[in-house]
Amino acid sequence: MSDCIFCKIIHGEIPSKKIYEDEELCAFHDVTPQSPVHFLLIPKRHIRNIMEAEMNDTALLGRLLYKAQELAVTLGCGENGARFVINCKKDGGQTVDHLHIHVLGGRYFDWPPG
Ligand code: 5GP
Ligand code: ZN
Repeated sequence: MSDCIFCKIIHGEIPSKKIYEDEELCAFHDVTPQSPVHFLLIPKRHIRNIMEAEMNDTALLGRLLYKAQELAVTLGCGENGARFVINCKKDGGQTVDHLHIHVLGGRYFDWPPG
């Protein structure tokens, strides 16, 4: 989508610190990190949010989740763990309408969220 920040990052039109990329997925550091490790993993295809995913997307979603934990381990979160977050729409606090999973690590996160 032409006015989507994350689509622009995928196409290199907005600079980012990329961590990983393949035909389907792209990971980059969050521009406003909330923890020592904070990256976003996204499908390259523009899916607006997790509720717009379809039955045909289940393999892609599986890969997204698997790659999120794999990258978290690679970035040093294997021992202490990490928080994996998908915000969705207004009540979920989503601000960028391109499906993404946040991976936050390197510090302790309380539960429940405020
Ligand atoms: P959301 O609130 O939609 O779940 O999260 C969007 C995330 O994208 C936020 O954590 C925000 O810091 C991050 N973000 C927004 N714009 C940019 C950008 O241009 N580059 C990068 N790397 N992250 C961004
Ligand atoms: Zn997009």
